[in-house]
Amino acid sequence: MEQHFAPKKILHVASECVPFVKTGGLADVVGALPRALAKAGHDVRVILPKYGQIAEHYRNEMTHVTDFYLDLGWRHVFCGIEQLCQDGVTYYFVDNEYLFYRHYIYGWGNDEAERYAFFCRAVLNSLERIGFIPDVLHCHDWQSGMVPFLLKTQYAHLPAFSSIKTVFTIHNLQYQGLSNWPHVQEMLSIPDEYFRPDVLEFHGDLSFMKAGLTYADQLTTVSPTYAKEIQTPDYGERLEGLLSARQGQLHGILNGIDVLEYDPATDPKIFSVYTAGDLSGKAACKRSLQEEFGLEQNPKAMLIGMVGRLNTQKGLDLVEQVLGDFMQDEVQLVILGDGDAHFANFFSGSCQQYRGKLGAYIGFNLDLAHRIYAGCDAFLMPSLFEPCGLSQLIALRYGTLPIVRETGGLVDTVTSYNEQTGEGNGFSFAPYRASDMLYTIRRANYFYHMQKDVWHTLQQRAMSGDYSWDASARAYLELYSQV
Ligand code: ADP
Repeated sequence: MEQHFAPKKILHVASECVPFVKTGGLADVVGALPRALAKAGHDVRVILPKYGQIAEHYRNEMTHVTDFYLDLGWRHVFCGIEQLCQDGVTYYFVDNEYLFYRHYIYGWGNDEAERYAFFCRAVLNSLERIGFIPDVLHCHDWQSGMVPFLLKTQYAHLPAFSSIKTVFTIHNLQYQGLSNWPHVQEMLSIPDEYFRPDVLEFHGDLSFMKAGLTYADQLTTVSPTYAKEIQTPDYGERLEGLLSARQGQLHGILNGIDVLEYDPATDPKIFSVYTAGDLSGKAACKRSLQEEFGLEQNPKAMLIGMVGRLNTQKGLDLVEQVLGDFMQDEVQLVILGDGDAHFANFFSGSCQQYRGKLGAYIGFNLDLAHRIYAGCDAFLMPSLFEPCGLSQLIALRYGTLPIVRETGGLVDTVTSYNEQTGEGNGFSFAPYRASDMLYTIRRANYFYHMQKDVWHTLQQRAMSGDYSWDASARAYLELYSQV
């Protein structure tokens, strides 16, 4: 990327980041965007919690920067800051073993508010101690939502903090960090007057997300279509009023993917590498994937892949409704996912019924994800909503044609094949209905079986798309210059 912007100091604040810890797309973005910005000559740093899950070799590489105690209500709580540098980016890890040294990242305990209230306070209290006062504090999702609020209401009068600007990015509006007001009020010393619907209150709770949305100087979300959708009641998660009121500061910037990590021509995690010019390696990947999942070794069956959180957001109820229908066709399906027990049981239970045609791996497995992206013919993503979606971008890069519902970032990245014009890089449907999804899977299967040249052209087109971070990083830099 060419250098056109004055060098900036940027600190990304997030709860997960590749390669250290990941549950979904947020981690991919916080892993890749800072590296793209650093490559363009900016001083970019990232701060995240030091979770117990971070691999030991990374923990061993970290060096101790500082430690101090901070006030969390009446308690003085230990806060260590560790550091690690990689690919031109400095990563800081906020250390408190009681809060973060656990076998899970989110969700199991009932102290999420405490963990991330501490994290937000720790970020602001560490800036002077680590000697990095950023021009822009870029916060991601609800876990960092209190940072813009605390900065404006408790720190901005201090000379060191007065010129810091904030950007808040929504990766998924569904998760808002709704918490008990008196508890958070006490932990973060927030005066009563802020518990109003136009500030932090959200239907009787305190909302971390709303704090970020209200107090950040600029807001972004991860695709232009989702930026529009969340200003409507269908997608706004009851925050559409606030988001419409701030539409002048709300920008939709499409995510990229790490094109070095996801490159079929060099990927060491796949059975055989391949390029758009020579897809024979892809056929080998398919055979090996069929074998791995105990599927029939049938090169003619259209092999569909799904990788993602097992969650209603991902449209799995549609798949559940018509699985029996498309399993009658010359189609196979492999699914990799972790999440809702209902879907986990459904898919693993159905493998018996559709032996040789359906494979399921319930869990999180990054290497297997690569093998699925490479080995499948098509990639199914019938999401109810999708802020951006990275999986379909990865699938495109591997020449695995996406079959998606037209929502959010899927609209911005997948164009349904148009027989009249020849345009397209996948297949899509609009209404959230199982019959529409089934029709579209069958439509894709028709081209896969009957019009191989069309399928091949779409694959070539998919694989030659630009999914890198370059364009998005430029859009973020433009935004940073505006704030
Ligand atoms: P979301 O952020 O909503 O989970 P995205 O499509 O934006 O969905 O990003 C999901 C990312 O997480 C992709 O890189 C995908 O490959 C990865 N992923 C999701 N579930 C799994 C899993 N069970 N095992 C391995 N990788 C997964």
